[in-house]
Amino acid sequence: MNFLFDTSIDVSRRQFYVLAMGSCIGNLAGFIGNALIFGWSGTTIFCGICMLLMVAGSFIGIKKGQIRYASYLMIAVLSLVEFPALYYIYQTGTIVYMVLAMVAIAIFIPTGNAIRFAGVVIVADVAAVILAYVRPLESEKLSKEVVLQSTLCSLLIVLLCVFLLSILLQMQRQRQEEEVKKLNEQLKDAADKDALTGIYNRRYLNQYLGDLILDEKEEFDAVLIDLDFFKHVNDTYGHGFGDIILVEFARLLTKHVKNKGIAVRFGGEEFMLVLKGMNTDEIGKMLEHIRREYKEFTKHEKNIECSFSSGVQHYTEGIAVTVLYRLADEKLYAAKERGRNQDVFDLES
Ligand code: GH3
Ligand code: MG
Ligand code: MG
Repeated sequence: MNFLFDTSIDVSRRQFYVLAMGSCIGNLAGFIGNALIFGWSGTTIFCGICMLLMVAGSFIGIKKGQIRYASYLMIAVLSLVEFPALYYIYQTGTIVYMVLAMVAIAIFIPTGNAIRFAGVVIVADVAAVILAYVRPLESEKLSKEVVLQSTLCSLLIVLLCVFLLSILLQMQRQRQEEEVKKLNEQLKDAADKDALTGIYNRRYLNQYLGDLILDEKEEFDAVLIDLDFFKHVNDTYGHGFGDIILVEFARLLTKHVKNKGIAVRFGGEEFMLVLKGMNTDEIGKMLEHIRREYKEFTKHEKNIECSFSSGVQHYTEGIAVTVLYRLADEKLYAAKERGRNQDVFDLES
């Protein structure tokens, strides 16, 4: 049954499975019902042929991939041949099949064509009803019991088919909705996160800071971090190892920031932390912890002691995000100038 709901399968193909199931089951039930009520009459054989056509249509659609042609063929046989003919022969209860055909047209035929198709079917249905009144079949004099059986049989088949179609399509729609929701989340994640390190990217940072500044309640600091002599690391140990360092460094940042703010890959080997409600002392301690663990990592991997420099800028009300970046960058630059491997909180000191 999973093929009916597998969202990796094209929607029209999945819908066709529902049409194939509904029409084959409905026609099989109709054929058996006819055989039981009327025996091996001409109509039973006619229903049998229609059932074989549904099986053939399903085969053409599923195995040969001709879903459109198969849908038209199957619905044309049902709505223009089988159902008007059944009404002409049995009349009474078999009229419900005509309603079922309209449901199938609306669901399985593309909208523009469905309107034209429905118009033709309405004419055929009305013609069959009028013809059955004006020129009824002489040969078929049906007893009251047979009419009751035939009406009940038709009613049950139509109820079953309408219910089956509706519930399967509804379940497909639900699965599709879940899939779209999941994809949207993945899309949002991909748009907000850096592909290499998996931490937030600059696009998200801009949005985050914009919201934070609008909020006005929260005090925060922006820490701009740049890995020292990273070009040298790349040149000596290869770009691949450079990438490993970036991923590990991002992991360290996220680990230490926890719920105090966010860690962002600002670009290249530069990162930014946005830290809320922390004083200078606490920020300094956090950076020292990260520095030590970063050094331990590179020592362990390549027996080198890598470091980073940073500029810490407290957000003061009224400054633009771009100004905040520039002020943090000036401090980072000072840290590099002063010999790297340090954090600058104040340009004066
Ligand atoms: P400084 O201490 O002055 O910051 O020196 P630096 O070598 O770190 O700075 P520079 O700007 O000269 O070099 C940065 C290097 O970062 C150059 C670039 O190839 C490397 N880089 C940027 N993005 C990536 C990346 O995604 N992966 C790797 N492996 N390297 C990257
Ligand atoms: Mg740099
Ligand atoms: Mg650098």
